[in-house]
Amino acid sequence: MLGLGAVSKAFFHALAGSQFLKRLASRYGMRSGDSFARRFIAGETVEEAIAAARALQQRGLSVTLDYLGESVRTIAEADTATRAYIRVFGQLAGAGIDHNISLKLTQLGLTVDRATCVDNLRRILDEADARQFFVRIDMEDSPFTAVTLDVFETIWQQGYRNAGIVLQSYLPRSESDAARMNALGARVRLVKGAYQEPRGVAYQNKTEVDAAFVRIMQVLLMGGNYPAIATHDPAMIEAARIFAREKGISPDRYEFQMLYGIRRDLQAALTRDGFRVRVYVPFGREWFPYFMRRLGERPANVGFVIRSVLREG
Ligand SMILES: Cc1cc2nc3c(=O)[nH]c(=O)nc-3n(C[C@H](O)[C@H](O)[C@H](O)COP(=O)(O)OP(=O)(O)OC[C@H]3O[C@@H](n4cnc5c(N)ncnc54)[C@H](O)[C@@H]3O)c2cc1C
Repeated sequence: MLGLGAVSKAFFHALAGSQFLKRLASRYGMRSGDSFARRFIAGETVEEAIAAARALQQRGLSVTLDYLGESVRTIAEADTATRAYIRVFGQLAGAGIDHNISLKLTQLGLTVDRATCVDNLRRILDEADARQFFVRIDMEDSPFTAVTLDVFETIWQQGYRNAGIVLQSYLPRSESDAARMNALGARVRLVKGAYQEPRGVAYQNKTEVDAAFVRIMQVLLMGGNYPAIATHDPAMIEAARIFAREKGISPDRYEFQMLYGIRRDLQAALTRDGFRVRVYVPFGREWFPYFMRRLGERPANVGFVIRSVLREG
């Protein structure tokens, strides 16, 4: 039987497709400084993202910025998104914040035409290289797993080294993918996985997802290239700390990553203990699907949204 977590995830993923809800949320979610979406999204403009990133860096955290957007439907939209990313590099480059961004391949046209998507990615990586940015390719839902890894390996073979990839522990295939990425020397971010996936494709219960997370984390810490352990789960973080200590892996050979607005207490505590913590800072007008995934992970967040809306009246 599906657990409550899976049911609520499915519910929020279904709602994420609602244009009505999207219009409603877009109107109210970012309206003022304390509107509900601001808990998870730094803002709609690059200036707001830069301000949020600076504030985090002043507290000893690193950042990766995500200019939100996914699933464009035409080559023209993919081109617009690519140009926008290239423009964002220019705006971020002089801002005194980390040169590190995250993006999604469906934003660059993966569902429209793979070759165009690869071309767009190359345009972005060339610009990133010139400005010394690192580009993390986020992992999307399972129809895109193989093709995302394929595109990543293609650009890797073409000599691009300023890019990294993400693996999801809810996918059984990720253990062998991790070994393959280690063999390449590619930088991997390990996450549990944010999408609603069918049985047969992904583990459905937390115990299995967590156990796989620990196994892959160990593989990456032992043989990987500066892995990122991306989770808010204290048990996963503790397992990584213990394993690294036992194996004599110093805290400068890996980093923890967390999402903007989530477990800020834990972000601060790890930094105080001398660990590297990078915060994923999403910004832009297309924040609705990202926001709905955050609600689906923790339905208690809905209470927070309702309280904020009532407060604003
Ligand atoms: C930096 C970063 C990048 C990511 N990139 C990707 C990606 O490319 N592809 C992908 O599929 N997924 C990505 N994710 C999301 C990830 O897959 C999980 O969905 C998400 O991190 C929640 O899982 P968890 O590891 O925190 O553990 P969980 O077991 O889900 O949560 C552990 C604890 O964390 C806290 N918590 C978790 N989520 C929330 C929330 N939304 N609101 C409030 N508290 C919460 C709660 O206290 C919870 O008890 C990313 C996550 C991070 C941190």
